[in-house]
Amino acid sequence: MSQLEQPHATPHYAGSLFIVSAPSGAGKSSLVKALLAEVDGIGLSISNTTRKARPGEVDGRDYHFISQPDFEALRDQDGFLEWAHVHGNYYGTSRAWVQSQMAQDRDVLLEIDWQGAEQVVRKVPNVVSIFILPPSMEELEKRLRGRGTDSEEVILKRLGAAQLEIEQARRFDYVILNDDFSTALLELKSIVLASRCRFNQQMARHGKQLKRIGL
Ligand code: 5GP
Repeated sequence: MSQLEQPHATPHYAGSLFIVSAPSGAGKSSLVKALLAEVDGIGLSISNTTRKARPGEVDGRDYHFISQPDFEALRDQDGFLEWAHVHGNYYGTSRAWVQSQMAQDRDVLLEIDWQGAEQVVRKVPNVVSIFILPPSMEELEKRLRGRGTDSEEVILKRLGAAQLEIEQARRFDYVILNDDFSTALLELKSIVLASRCRFNQQMARHGKQLKRIGL
């Protein structure tokens, strides 16, 4: 178990670890992109995946696109904080990267599926988990098709998985209904800003100042 993974330890990181999950097509990536553009100090984890890059995706920016043998080697070396098989491909979060960010007291955001979220919540204390829901199944399908980058087979696979994924929302701390984008973004920003004001986070971040006023 790494220093990061101490379920019963007093939190000593000033940063917060955020997880954002959603079924494909709920608008998660657009919301996260807008959040990062508007709120400073959050590092987005770039996942490793065995999925092929979509047109327009860049290796190292959107994902680290790696082969299955390379993924398995990393997994076997315990290189992933969490990993999962999602829609026919492997995805995993680099343990070393998350650890290095948390050690620098930076906020970290993981855009991962519910299976990965479950693993991280079990291992790391004080995680803030957020689930994004589409307003309807019709809208979800419209958004999945509107992306224009996936084959019909991939779209059908993702639609088929959506119901099970949606049911996982109940395991998360927060749920955002992404009907109106700007309302959903405001809610996401509010969660992030409020999480930074948790007592332990403030003590870790502003300990000296708070001591001076008698805390
Ligand atoms: P996509 O192929 O559309 O980029 O992602 C498919 C699903 O995999 C999404 O739900 C996305 O959040 C999830 N995902 C992306 N990276 C990771 C990761 O590192 N770990 C896990 N568990 N899921 C991931």
